[in-house]
Amino acid sequence: MSLEQRLQDVERRIAEACARSGRDPGDVNVVAVTKYVSANTARLAVEAGMRHIGENRWPAAEEKWRLLEGQAVFHYIGSLQSKKVKDVVGKFDYIHSLDRMSLAEEIHKRAVILGIRVPCFLQVNVSGEDSKHGLAPAELAGFAASIRGLHGIKPIGLMTMAPVADDPEETRPVFSRLSTLLRELNASGVLDEPLTELSMGMSGDFEVAIEEGATWVRLGSVLVGHEDMNG
Ligand SMILES: *Cc1c(COP(=O)(O)O)cnc(C)c1O
Repeated sequence: MSLEQRLQDVERRIAEACARSGRDPGDVNVVAVTKYVSANTARLAVEAGMRHIGENRWPAAEEKWRLLEGQAVFHYIGSLQSKKVKDVVGKFDYIHSLDRMSLAEEIHKRAVILGIRVPCFLQVNVSGEDSKHGLAPAELAGFAASIRGLHGIKPIGLMTMAPVADDPEETRPVFSRLSTLLRELNASGVLDEPLTELSMGMSGDFEVAIEEGATWVRLGSVLVGHEDMNG
């Protein structure tokens, strides 16, 4: 299937999930995750109409960023080491993986130097798996309060990763919990501005995530595919 066909297919599935849940497809954004493909394929993906590009490691993303700078919006979706912040802030337009104070302070510091505010998602480990990064749900409100003074950070939403499941239905409680956490956080008045975004849903479970309120889905395999990059 061509990248154009893959995009059309994903857009149709998004529209169907929106129809099932009474949502507007215009409220669901797609991040094309290019970590499994070459810079050239990432370029073709952008030419095929994928405007948002997601990567999870800086050195691996650098070639793509240099090639596509100014032509795509870049999303940092992987866990971020504090020492990599200087490489990422100013190049990536969004960070999906803010999950600790030391990282928040680094992002803020770098953003202030560059005179920007970085839109960030607070990553929550809803499922509680040891292998997953993110704040525990019980830590979320306290964390949100503690980053309030860091004006280099603009918190815009929450992000989570669901456990790998054979049946996507199994992921529904994780996504629904993230939606609830967003509503509760907004109702608590902890943040200066309400969060509006939910980054949740990957190739295997994005339709369920959309039915539960996702505004950003992060799609690798189903959208841009896999390539052997050692060859
Ligand atoms: C790799 C990755 C994705 C995309 O995974 P697919 O299942 O291939 O769609 C989404 N989010 C994060 C954080 C990832 O690391």
